Amino acid sequence: MSPAPTVVENPAFKHPAFNRIPPWVRAKLSPLAIEKIQAVYEWVENECIPREQIMKAQLEGKRWVTPPLIHELRDKAKQRGLFNLFLPNHFKESPGLTNLEYSCCAELMGRCYWAAQTMNCHAPETGNIELLAKYCSEEQKKKWLAPLMEGTASSAYSMTEPDVASSDATNIGISMRREGDEYVINGRKLYGNCLWNKDLTFYILMGLSDPENPDKWHRHTMIIVPCNTPGIQQVRNLTIMGYDHAPEGHGEYLYTNVRVPAANVILGEGRAFEIAQGRLGPGRIHHCMRLIGQCERAYELALVRCTDPRKRPRGKLIGEFDSNIERVAQMRLELDAARLVVLNAADTMDLLGNKAGKRAIAQSKILVPAMATKWIDECMQIYGGMGVTQHTPLPEMWTYARFVRLADGPDAAHRHQVGREEMKTAGGFRERNEAYKRRYKELAEKYGEKYVSFD
Ligand SMILES: Cc1cc2nc3c(=O)[nH]c(=O)nc-3n(C[C@H](O)[C@H](O)[C@H](O)COP(=O)(O)OP(=O)(O)OC[C@H]3O[C@@H](n4cnc5c(N)ncnc54)[C@H](O)[C@@H]3O)c2cc1C
Repeated sequence: MSPAPTVVENPAFKHPAFNRIPPWVRAKLSPLAIEKIQAVYEWVENECIPREQIMKAQLEGKRWVTPPLIHELRDKAKQRGLFNLFLPNHFKESPGLTNLEYSCCAELMGRCYWAAQTMNCHAPETGNIELLAKYCSEEQKKKWLAPLMEGTASSAYSMTEPDVASSDATNIGISMRREGDEYVINGRKLYGNCLWNKDLTFYILMGLSDPENPDKWHRHTMIIVPCNTPGIQQVRNLTIMGYDHAPEGHGEYLYTNVRVPAANVILGEGRAFEIAQGRLGPGRIHHCMRLIGQCERAYELALVRCTDPRKRPRGKLIGEFDSNIERVAQMRLELDAARLVVLNAADTMDLLGNKAGKRAIAQSKILVPAMATKWIDECMQIYGGMGVTQHTPLPEMWTYARFVRLADGPDAAHRHQVGREEMKTAGGFRERNEAYKRRYKELAEKYGEKYVSFD
């Protein structure tokens, strides 16, 4: 007799927070995770989504001031133990969830664009906190990591540059010259949060410190640059498909003789690539987790519109047309499949580490934003003309999914990397294929059949 299905019987899983979590994942959830997933669900549904329009209203006319609502919610979320849930349980600073458990929380956060921020689980903070927790000295942690985790400081990640192809980070060219106990930085940077928001405290900057080093993997260094350092000039805020993304924004920067203490170097001179590898895995996967939640929200909106009794072209509900029934089915299918890809990546990171999870992370990064842009676009179409206006959150959702195809590395670069790795496995398949042929030859002789070669 097969064992009783204990996962299904656990009464906690009757809570709607667990509706979309597959049984194999439920089976791995700790009691702490079950409690947190439920709490995140309640938080997003009751404290964030109903306040979406209030957030917009508070930003009107004061684009670069963090709205009072965010401060209020962050204080509350911290008191409820919902801060920093993303930091995996192998860090001593972690609240105790695995990457897989956090995926379930992050999906729920993705249902509201800024919910993650209220829980200090937003980009680039998550990637930066993990970086500092992993690579900083204890002294640096006290100074830079602790305030980030407390939510009293805010950081940006500054790698991309306008003058080079930054998807290949060996090209990064901003000059970082050592002078005594300082580094002097000169050059341009694209992206990293907007300095107009006074809450921004520091940048984690990748610069070229040893251009003559024959080893291109050891020419670069990461350093913490406080925002108030003289010589940093923000040229403009970048808009993304027309959105300014206030109050965090995306700055474009000019560095002119910016002097930073050498004590701010992370891990050591020339070790930026070691750090960059460690940072991008978690950052990438968090975006994908949230995109799944965002797609669920778009899906729900599409169903609402499909069944709106006021909208009856040719006398039928929108959802009564076969084309829309099929659209809904296909979106459901691809969304569920994409979730499995993300959960697999998170589980692989837990079981084998971020390095071994590289391919699974890349798979998520390639698949999820493409899936999300495609289906949010279809949801807009179901909404007709209203779908591309501010009457629905769909255009903002689509923009988020679209930029994640680029942020943390373009999908083409990930496909290139995955494809190259896969090509390396061809040798094994060639050998196996030859073995099939040899065996076929033996069997042809045994059965007295003619051996047919197609080579
Ligand atoms: C909204 C948003 C937020 C961002 N936030 C940050 C941030 O906080 N900090 C930061 O440092 N950067 C940030 N970025 C920048 C982002 O990481 C880079 O834009 C990205 O890594 C690509 O670098 P690039 O723009 O220099 O493009 P390039 O490197 O010039 O690449 C251009 C195109 O070339 C093609 N290509 C590149 N490599 C390959 C390859 N291996 N195989 C096939 N085709 C390839 C792709 O089509 C790619 O899109 C952000 C970007 C966006 C859109």
